[in-house]
Amino acid sequence: MNIVIFGAPGSGKGTQSEKLIERYGLYHISTGEVLRDHIARKTPIGQIAKTYINQGQLIPDSLMIRILEEIIENEPKAQKGVILDGFPRTIAQAEALDRFMAKHGREVKHVIGLEVPEDELIDRMIKRGQQTGRADDNPETIKNRLKVYHESTTPLREFYKNAGKYRKINGSGSVNDIFEEIAKAIDGEKA
Ligand code: AMP
Repeated sequence: MNIVIFGAPGSGKGTQSEKLIERYGLYHISTGEVLRDHIARKTPIGQIAKTYINQGQLIPDSLMIRILEEIIENEPKAQKGVILDGFPRTIAQAEALDRFMAKHGREVKHVIGLEVPEDELIDRMIKRGQQTGRADDNPETIKNRLKVYHESTTPLREFYKNAGKYRKINGSGSVNDIFEEIAKAIDGEKA
């Protein structure tokens, strides 16, 4: 089973992914985490990614797609199933993902869409910035990230609705309640 966890920055994708890996034994790939790790290790990819991330922009599709495919192909733990957190973020990425999965006889089974009001997203990211020191959780970059989300990423909702894969989840409320909603959406499909 391969799952995409979808939503604006600050919608709780990372938090819910942690709970999903526990219950479903899937391998978690957060493209944001992967890039932040490259930056911390000062790799060539990290050098490129840093400029984009600090401006709240997306890194180029071709590079992001290559990074993701390499992880899925080479990580043994990813063979059983993955939770994609922060990918895809553009239609081009979603189309590449469909092709890649099909090539490997796999598919994206569910797209879990966490929907959270914008003022709550901003509050959460500001808090996270204060607690973790995450560089792009500052008011200016947050504004850009939300703009990019609305322009480039929200069209994916229609893309996955048309494919019959989009499961809308109210992303406000307690972490556990939200998780149970997600689990219901996933398990309901199995029955
Ligand atoms: P995240 O941790 O998912 O909020 O991602 C942090 C930042 O990493 C984003 O604002 C982008 O600059 C970059 N990033 C993460 N995932 C992607 C992606 N799928 N495509 C392009 N850029 C990405």
